[in-house]
Parts: sequence; structure tokens; C-alpha cells
Amino acid sequence: MYRCVNCGTAIEELYRRYSPNVLKLLKCETCGLLADKYIEYDPVIILVDLILLKKRAYRHLLYNCDITPSWKLVIILWLIESFRNFLLCNNNKQYVQYWRLFQLNFDKHCSLYVILFNTAFALVTFVFTVVLFTKVRWYLYPNNSDKCSTTLLMKALVIGGSGKLLGLLEITWGHIFLTPHYLLILGYTLLCLLTAYSVITNNEKLESMMILGIGIVVYNCAYNFSLRILEILELV
Ligand SMILES: [Zn+2]
Repeated sequence: MYRCVNCGTAIEELYRRYSPNVLKLLKCETCGLLADKYIEYDPVIILVDLILLKKRAYRHLLYNCDITPSWKLVIILWLIESFRNFLLCNNNKQYVQYWRLFQLNFDKHCSLYVILFNTAFALVTFVFTVVLFTKVRWYLYPNNSDKCSTTLLMKALVIGGSGKLLGLLEITWGHIFLTPHYLLILGYTLLCLLTAYSVITNNEKLESMMILGIGIVVYNCAYNFSLRILEILELV
């Protein structure tokens, strides 16, 4: 089932094809606008609208496109986050030292494999927490008509987390932490996550911010927790 990108109403078909080169976009019966104008748009324009955080572009991507290689995006995001943590671990600059005060075990283990494991564990915990709290909300409000599958919810988190791809530029510039570049990337990634999550769940912004905020807190705690577990098991 597709969705109208303007109002989010479920719709059976987005266009009718009359010949191999002629197709007609259909209008949404609820809002009267073209259900998905992005079908005829160039991918670059869709990308620009995604960067501009337009909900219509996110609806097109999440509901009306088949993004099967999203697992590749997951791996890329995992590697970028791990690489950033690895560079931080080997960074002795003063501003990183301040941050380490809050990461009790971080400076003890700079093994790439440990960091890869901890980052993967923290990311899985983040997704699990957001999905869990979203399900709890749906349970508390059973009349909510905007329930979606767990797969689609996870896809939204992956697409929203793609703001982290800007971290590639950050690595290139050599400014890794607590610089305006990183804060900009972090803030933009949060906005992407908020937009994608709101599109899928149709929650109020405050509710979405609270659930994502809890997920981010759990992400940071899980990173330290997994290090502690590895220490207890004497694997590091
Ligand atoms: Zn509509």
C-alpha cells in the first residue's frame, strides 16, 4: 500500500501507465493533490528536498520507494560511527580529555575490534529502545491509526540516521569532536531522525523528541555498559 506524500493517506496506486512512455499521476481523494509528484522528479531534486527535511520527500522515500539495499547504509553508518570513536580514542587533545571524564572506560581500550563491537551494540540498543517505546505508546493509545510495521520503523531510523554521512566530511577535515562541525552534524542528524520518525508514526513533535531522546541516552549508556561487560568477561 502506497501513501499520499502530502497528507499521508493510504492509496492503492500512484499512477496509471497508458503506454511504455506515457503515465498519468493520480490525485489523492483526501487532499486533491497529486499523490506522489516525486515519481516524475529527478533523483537530485528528491535528494535536495530530503536535505531540506521536507516531510513529503521522506514519505516518498519511506512509503513509495523500495529501498532494498538499506542494510548497506546500516553498515556504512556503523563504520563511520566506529571510525569516529576510534579516532577519538587515540586523540590526546585537551577538549577530548574533558569528554573522557564522562566516559569512564573509554580511554582504556582503543582496540578497533572492541570499538566496532561497542558501537554496534550501542546502535542496536538505540533502535531497540526507540521501537520498544513506540510500541508501548501504541499499546497505551490503541485507537491510533498510524501504526506501522517494525521493519518500516527501523527503516525510518536508518534513513533518518543518514545525517551521520556528513561525518565523512568531518573525518576529512580532521575536526573530530566538539567543534562547530561536529555539533552541526549532530544537530542535523537529530533533525533528520525527528523528521523520518514523525513521518512514520505521525506523533507530535514533543512525543517524538522524547522517545528519540531516551534512545540517545540509552545509546550512550549502552556503549559504556558493553565495555564493562567485556571487562568482567576479561575479553579486553
Ligand atoms: Zn493526500
